[in-house]
Amino acid sequence: MTATRIDGKEFSARVRADVATHVARLKADHGITPGLAVVLVGEDPASQVYVRSKGKQTVEAGMQSFEHKLPVETAQSDLLNLVARLNADPAVHGILVQLPLPDHMDEAAVINAIDPAKDVDGFHISNVGRLATGQSAMVPCTPLGCLMLLRDTFGSLSGKTAVVIGRSNIVGKPMAQLLLRDSCTVTIAHSRTADIAEVVRRADIVVAAVGRPQMVPGDWIKPGAVVIDVGINRIDAPELGEGKTRLVGDVDFDSVAQVAGAVTPVPGGVGPMTIACLLANTLTACCRAANLPEPEGLTA
Ligand code: NDP
Repeated sequence: MTATRIDGKEFSARVRADVATHVARLKADHGITPGLAVVLVGEDPASQVYVRSKGKQTVEAGMQSFEHKLPVETAQSDLLNLVARLNADPAVHGILVQLPLPDHMDEAAVINAIDPAKDVDGFHISNVGRLATGQSAMVPCTPLGCLMLLRDTFGSLSGKTAVVIGRSNIVGKPMAQLLLRDSCTVTIAHSRTADIAEVVRRADIVVAAVGRPQMVPGDWIKPGAVVIDVGINRIDAPELGEGKTRLVGDVDFDSVAQVAGAVTPVPGGVGPMTIACLLANTLTACCRAANLPEPEGLTA
């Protein structure tokens, strides 16, 4: 069997276009423009790339983008003051503090200082609890993107057996909660899971969020299963020339594609969905703040 390649690039472009349509309607009908504030502390090169990309895509969707760049030595109290100002600013509907923060800061304290209604990353303890208890929440962007791809592939997920590999707070755990909410039978596998191959082999849906290049081989996959690869790993690629590198996922794409029904590639799978879902979350936060209906198909 050769798996269908799930095209996250194409799907995320559809999500962004859908967001832009809703934003235009919000402006025309209600005079409201959703606004996203992104805060970057320090000069981590990868974070700078993400923040630039987020700002660009926010503006392209017709929203307002507010960027706050603070020096690495910023005191935590100054960052908390900025967060408080953004919480109080009616033009700001979404706040994202780019992680990781410098070592002298307490990430949990900063994230939990964000107004949960504006917490478009979905990391605030209150949103984590709301998701876990089935209440309306802001949902972390990467798992939301995976869920959208899965719903698009399957239609209903009800009754499917799902295995999430990885139990981090930003991907694995919220992913498992979302799958449970869509009535999957969910197992979370991690570094201590005994006979992980056998566990994964039971799944109709496999979500790999491990951070280990090409760890999941084809012979772990049940024939016809749908495999979502969240991993982004840079590996040496001498075949491309001396000193060259390339990106791979947590899944061994070539062998998995021989067995699976569908699989996301890396790059071009889950990656582009993350920012698209950030825009979707900002729109959702704006609609909720204005007591307007949430955009259909863009929430969990
Ligand atoms: P973390 O390092 O926080 O978590 C990794 C998880 O994988 C842990 O739960 C760990 O288990 C588990 N794990 C590690 N080794 C093994 C193993 N040998 N077998 C089974 N499980 C194992 O990573 P994240 O969740 O933050 O990210 C995972 C991957 O997703 C990374 O490659 C990251 O770059 C990527 N990512 C991609 C995003 C995107 O936009 N596409 C967004 C976020 C992340 P244990 O808890 O037992 O240690």
